Amino acid sequence: MNLTEKDIQTIIESVMKNVESAIGPAPPGHSEGNTNSVIPIKLKEITEKDSVSTACSTSKQQNRTPSPKVNASTNSNPVFNTGMETFGVFEKIELAIEAGYMAQLDYVKRFELKDRERIIQAIREGVMTEAKELARLVYEETGIGSYQDKIAKHELAALKTPGTEDLSTAAFSGDNGLTIVEQAPFGLIGAVTPVTNPTETIVNNVISMLAAGNSVVFNVHPSSKQSCARVITIINKAIQGAGGPANLVTMVKNPTLETMQKLIDSSMVKLLVGTGGPGLVKTLLKSGKKAIGAGAGNPPVIVDDTADIEHAAKSIIEGASFDNNLLCIAEKEVFVLDSAADDLIFHLLNNGAYMLDRHQLNEVMNFALVENKEQVAAGCSDDPKRKYHISKKWIGKDATQFLTELKAKPKGNVKLLICEVDADHPFVQLEQMMPILPIVRVRDLDEAIQQAVRAEHGNKHTAMMHSKNIDHLTKFARAIETTIFVKNASSLAGVGFGGEGHTTMTIAGPTGEGITSAKTFTRQRRCVLADGGFRIIG
Ligand code: NAD
Repeated sequence: MNLTEKDIQTIIESVMKNVESAIGPAPPGHSEGNTNSVIPIKLKEITEKDSVSTACSTSKQQNRTPSPKVNASTNSNPVFNTGMETFGVFEKIELAIEAGYMAQLDYVKRFELKDRERIIQAIREGVMTEAKELARLVYEETGIGSYQDKIAKHELAALKTPGTEDLSTAAFSGDNGLTIVEQAPFGLIGAVTPVTNPTETIVNNVISMLAAGNSVVFNVHPSSKQSCARVITIINKAIQGAGGPANLVTMVKNPTLETMQKLIDSSMVKLLVGTGGPGLVKTLLKSGKKAIGAGAGNPPVIVDDTADIEHAAKSIIEGASFDNNLLCIAEKEVFVLDSAADDLIFHLLNNGAYMLDRHQLNEVMNFALVENKEQVAAGCSDDPKRKYHISKKWIGKDATQFLTELKAKPKGNVKLLICEVDADHPFVQLEQMMPILPIVRVRDLDEAIQQAVRAEHGNKHTAMMHSKNIDHLTKFARAIETTIFVKNASSLAGVGFGGEGHTTMTIAGPTGEGITSAKTFTRQRRCVLADGGFRIIG
């Protein structure tokens, strides 16, 4: 056969096309002539045997959803090519989104599961090295909580968030062949973080999301943006130091509600994850995309007369005073059986609590509560009829600051203020996030359960009970149905701090994922090899 010059040209073009499609788009930082690019750990495809999330893949299309129209100028954009300098912090949300999107394509294409694990290990080490500095930055920037406890929260997130070991592949085999169900990434995740655990949530979310093969772009709480930029820089340096892609984790430098809306609307963002109050969760759930909402809590504690009261008091103080009660899981109100109440209060006072008298309680209400004139949603509930909300000025402040304002000078180190109130008191019904623990005396267990369920407002978040009676524990657990139910320990045990199990900073009660981890951020994908695949036709 004689080939003309035109034929040869056509063949060359077709071969070039095949090669290009096999290689895929050049990832940011790897464009032609870019000498700044980081050399990845592996240039080969993820293999079946190594990857739970790619076991099904037989081609280079693995883990891909159809690509949205990425700006053609992406790879020549100077911001993208200086990913090394920005370390994930972008002036514009659009660039943070595009960079994160491109990084994820690179991540699933060129990195094996063991590379993910190495990257995660580097993140853990990077955060552990900087834990004190991060705690200081967050404390200084937000002005809430406790410096020491923030160190512990960073360490907890860095060390007890599971990595790729959280992923698994289910397999079914039989006469009809083999079916596997694997956990594949969503792609680029858009995540929103709270001011109460800003950097800790980033560390926890990043480890979980990257373990699952995703990238993530954050819209952080504006009052924590500098500390968040710092942790994102630390994380990206660690990723790149371990040979991973630039911009797997990004954020917009100056987050606003407008940048959040752009994140919600972007076709490159495949999953939304929000950790915060009811307004945030509502906004994300209205987006029309898959959203995971980790909302408010108002965790009640019940103490009955079978409990080890001294232990209960110590546990309650530990949980309720930690980080000045900023945690969504923290003990927020106590319902104690009348027969055990005096004993409990005695042991609370012996272990670092200070009892506010009637006059002091009124004063605290005057300065720490704001009347809800504008009918804004209050704390744990989006019920606009609530009469008060908490003054931002007093959220997460130290017990000693309240005492100074009250001109009280108690002896010893006060960690927690307590007060005796009735069940309707705003300190019981509002998610106050202050080191003030209201105590409500109740006649019996039924009344305790009824009031505790009411104060939890159906958040289905966290509850605690101190009791040695299994029937009592079961009765309360069944009535309140919270994501976390802690028995005879502090709330901290519920997130792996002195309790078994891994940790999370994103407890998705409203949308039902519960204690989030890597597997939460995956799509289930079924891959079937049916008998036709084996049968010899003939
Ligand atoms: P927040 O709701 O004020 O802010 C959280 C994030 O959402 C911030 O980034 C903020 O900018 C954004 N945001 C706030 N209102 C919004 C709205 N209407 N629309 C869109 N975005 C909005 O909460 P916070 O004060 O930062 O954090 C404390 C709250 O978060 C508490 O209610 C606490 O219980 C909850 N929280 C829950 C978890 C959990 O795992 N479930 C963890 C930490 C904190």
